[in-house]
Amino acid sequence: MTPSRNAMTCQQFQEQLADLIGSGENAAAHPHLRGCIRCTVLLSDLEAIAEAARQLFPIVEPPEKLWKQIEIAIKDDQKSLIPD
Ligand SMILES: [Zn+2]
Repeated sequence: MTPSRNAMTCQQFQEQLADLIGSGENAAAHPHLRGCIRCTVLLSDLEAIAEAARQLFPIVEPPEKLWKQIEIAIKDDQKSLIPD
C-alpha cells in the first residue's frame, strides 16, 4: 500500500463513510478530506444521491407495513411459479 500523509487510507475512509453519513455527523468535516480530492468528490456524489432520494421519498413508510407488502408480493410470485 502506498504510504500516505493522511491518517487513514481512502479505503479505510470509504468503509467508514456510510456510517459517518448515517450517524448524521458532518462527513465533510472529516480530516481525511482535507488532503484527498478523490474522497471529497465521492462524498459530494453520495450527498447528491442522498438528497435526490429524500426528494423522491419525503415520507418514510413504516417499515413493518413495507415488509408485509414485500412478503405478500414474494408469496404471490411463488404461487404463480408453483402450480397446484
Ligand atoms: Zn481519500
